[in-house]
Amino acid sequence: MSTIDQLIASGVRGLQPYQPGKPAETLERELGITNIIKLASNENPHGASPLVAAAITDTLSGLARYPDGSGYSLKETLSKRLGVSAEQITLGNGSNDVLDLVVRAFVDPGQQVVIAEYAFAVYALATQSVNGELIVVPARDFGHDLEAMATAVTDFTRVVFVANPNNPTGTYRDCASIEHFLEALPSSVIVVIDEAYFEYVKELDYPDSIRLLSHFSNLIVVRTFSKAYGLAGLRVGYAIASEQITEVLNRVRHPFNVNSLALAAAEAALDDQDFVVRSVTENLKGLKQLASGFGELGLGWIPSVANCICVRVGPNATQIFESMLRQGVIVRPVANYGLTDYLRVSVGLEEENDRVIETLKNALADSTGS
Ligand SMILES: *Cc1c(COP(=O)(O)O)cnc(C)c1O
Repeated sequence: MSTIDQLIASGVRGLQPYQPGKPAETLERELGITNIIKLASNENPHGASPLVAAAITDTLSGLARYPDGSGYSLKETLSKRLGVSAEQITLGNGSNDVLDLVVRAFVDPGQQVVIAEYAFAVYALATQSVNGELIVVPARDFGHDLEAMATAVTDFTRVVFVANPNNPTGTYRDCASIEHFLEALPSSVIVVIDEAYFEYVKELDYPDSIRLLSHFSNLIVVRTFSKAYGLAGLRVGYAIASEQITEVLNRVRHPFNVNSLALAAAEAALDDQDFVVRSVTENLKGLKQLASGFGELGLGWIPSVANCICVRVGPNATQIFESMLRQGVIVRPVANYGLTDYLRVSVGLEEENDRVIETLKNALADSTGS
């Protein structure tokens, strides 16, 4: 072990960094091909509202100044939209930042964090980095088994993460299940409901978890501008919780964690709900398009309400992923989640979804032929 190795904090020692989707530019460089499409990071294929570009242009002249560290204006706008007070909102550099704040604020080394099998990878990373103990509860039908998760809570549990819907599986739990879950837990356990895909879900039994905040003082709802609002590159997310929890999260929040372009962009994005509605409508069509294409290829999939869908390609998933890459289509292997037979496809534009099906068909032919 080198000197530096010995210095590494215990929680960081075994940590494997988060693996992002492969950028199109990297693949272009590696293969020397163009016309690459990336459907690997659940980004909005329609971009963002034109109001965003205008707001950013207006903000450029002020870049020598620090941003508003309190995010006053964005929080006021969010507060009106969501019907909560500005003192209940914590802004983050993406919602990843907020998830990390929760762990830093509430988890001591050795204390437990409960997550579901196949849950979004960032919960485990944040927990391990502070040397918390991760309790992983087996999934049910690829989704969160909330009943089993409630049972897994002990006196040592500080935080439970629920991704609703979950990434990568796109599964969700309904309103009644979420309410029962919250009722089953002691108020001394922080419950984070991560709603990164909130805007996309049109199921009637999907919970309005902000309404639950007045009943459960231990609840934190997390949302983001990275998905339906199309601002993944700018990094803005937020938590909504009680004023008391919010005050605690803000103790560990880095000053100026959201930059001025991002603050202005997020506020402008909220002003264009038509853009969100169009994105969501197109996403629902895209999910159907992909599922029917998978069906025609004889493949199964995990039913999804998010902007991604996991397709069951079988034990050759890695070869199929690589074959699709060579054909210029970047999707996401999910073996790191234990979903070894699956690939996750983000919903793209109609023609991009067609290309997924076409390249997948070729890849399957390659893999059975070889
Ligand atoms: C994409 C995603 C996030 C959001 O990431 P940002 O940091 O806001 O870009 C959070 N949770 C889940 C489950 C996600 O899939």
